Amino acid sequence: MLDHTPVEFVEREVLTINPAKTCQPIGAAWAALGIHGCMPLGHGSQGCISYLRMQLSRHLREPAVSATSSFSEASAVFGGIGNLKQAVRNVLHIYKPKVIAVYTTCVAETIGDDVGGTIKVMYEEGDIPEGVKVIHAATPSYRGSHIWGFSNMTAAMATQLARKGSPNGKVNLIPGFVEPGDVREIKRIVGAMGVPAITFPDVSDVLDTPMTNEYRLYPKGGTRVDELIDTANSLATVALGRYTSKDAAVRLENEFGVPAKVLPLPIGIKNTDLFLMAIKEITGKEIPEEVEDDRGRLVDMLGDINYHFHGKKVAVHGDPDTVLGILSLLAEMGMEPVHVVTGTPADGFVEEAKRIIGEDANVKCPGDLFYLHQLIKNEPVDLLIGNTHGKYIARAEDIPFVRIGFPILDRSYGQYFPIVGYLGGMRLVKMIDDALLDRADRDASDEDVELIM
Ligand code: SF4
Repeated sequence: MLDHTPVEFVEREVLTINPAKTCQPIGAAWAALGIHGCMPLGHGSQGCISYLRMQLSRHLREPAVSATSSFSEASAVFGGIGNLKQAVRNVLHIYKPKVIAVYTTCVAETIGDDVGGTIKVMYEEGDIPEGVKVIHAATPSYRGSHIWGFSNMTAAMATQLARKGSPNGKVNLIPGFVEPGDVREIKRIVGAMGVPAITFPDVSDVLDTPMTNEYRLYPKGGTRVDELIDTANSLATVALGRYTSKDAAVRLENEFGVPAKVLPLPIGIKNTDLFLMAIKEITGKEIPEEVEDDRGRLVDMLGDINYHFHGKKVAVHGDPDTVLGILSLLAEMGMEPVHVVTGTPADGFVEEAKRIIGEDANVKCPGDLFYLHQLIKNEPVDLLIGNTHGKYIARAEDIPFVRIGFPILDRSYGQYFPIVGYLGGMRLVKMIDDALLDRADRDASDEDVELIM
């Protein structure tokens, strides 16, 4: 028996119940894996790195590698610099990476280990061989979320690897915290326009590798170090997602004069249009017919069955850039997002969400899933969109549920398919339509079920 009794809200400042986010190192490791030949190295306790590897592997159904400096009680109390130095030496000796990307954990940040200074000394003392790069990002989890971790590590690539040289005529593309299938789709679109690009971080062919009967610790994908160095010489940087990609783009602009263009994630028609027009403006390249046709098919889909979507109330939770993109698509579909929650602290998120869906919507940032559940109890919705953790709300309130975002732990294969671009929009529309029709089928009488279409 469902209990739809409205609940009384209690504003909470220091208590999070069912967080709508996870910890910074997960995002940092995800970004680091988008560098070709990179071994992420978590500076801290083994448990933190075991946790993030487990989360990534459950989400991807693929191994996600990361080394650790493996704190003991002594290093947690007196400092872990000795562990860090030994860990870097061990990784170089055993795993022979082209890049080591060091990210910190809560305890390493709390004791104040000077990671950047230590790496500098290791370079000076010849501990790090010629041609190998060691970069680092501060990623304490008592600030921000995995999105901050992703952003910090991506910015570290721009500031610690980029070097001024000759103009390369390329566009830097920062796809944000998205699935390998999304990166692949963004590259396909830009490739179809004939635009030479440096995409970073690039997790395609790293986190969605094909079975070849040969294990490769470093898969063929990922942005090469020479490409990352060359980002300082590009025509411009197109950063997709203000909260994941802007920092890196702004640093390339400030330090090397590479103009930054910060755009929303290209989810839905308008956001994809913005992306394509920006690329066209920067390069002068035309948008090819095959991409225009994709757009036309998405518009056609929305026109054909708009009555399935129009006026349906939706609740959305997840990462800020992803949520804003989904809100834009939902508005194009004629749906009514009424409750929106992100767990990531994100300046300007509430204002931007309300600009897209209207002032009356409940938008919480940062918020948690308990709060979202309260909102839904007080004003029920026709559909919930979010990551795996939303399913408990969907079960409790008997709401159709579409799984989008991170993590997705109870469904498989999401990393292979895009939600960005016109093709990604078509996939999202189908997922939403299927969820609504499955529910209509379930609830229809024997006489009426054949009328559901
Ligand atoms: S929140 Fe901090 S202590 Fe917990 S797993 Fe993440 S980095 Fe480790």
